[in-house]
Amino acid sequence: MMDNQIKPNSNNRRARKTISLGRHRANCTVCAHEKREEIEAEFITWRSPALIATDYGLADRMNIYRHARALGLFAKRERNVRAALERIIEKAGDVEVTASAAVAAIQAYAKINAQGQWIERSEHVNLNELFERMTQTELEAYARNGTLPDWFTQTVGVTPPQGQEVGSD
Ligand SMILES: [Zn+2]
Repeated sequence: MMDNQIKPNSNNRRARKTISLGRHRANCTVCAHEKREEIEAEFITWRSPALIATDYGLADRMNIYRHARALGLFAKRERNVRAALERIIEKAGDVEVTASAAVAAIQAYAKINAQGQWIERSEHVNLNELFERMTQTELEAYARNGTLPDWFTQTVGVTPPQGQEVGSD
């Protein structure tokens, strides 16, 4: 059977990974948490780690960041930009959304494909690359209320909604 055909090389790599993961697990309150899967699901869908920490009785959000780094959850979360936008659009959870943030999120959502790539008419912008350039503070602000840094909106060319004149109000 396939299961028995593990090559020695992949065995070694697997063993090394298990050791470092084991060291992480020994010190991680998220790994030991009975609702670990729910915590991970909320992280991946861009819920604020500070709020997750509060809800699940964790000391602070650093526990979640450490866990996410050890388990490779950041990459999963970055591919899941649409979830963050959905959260903003639906005004889910404890997020307070301003009108302009909601409009920006809807525009962005319409332009982002399932791989998290921003699609413009004539060019493709890799949104993941832009998110990787964002600082933790910028990411938090974005996840919380949809605020994107100026350099980000300049790069992707966010414009007012079509057919709506600037300064019409
Ligand atoms: Zn952990």
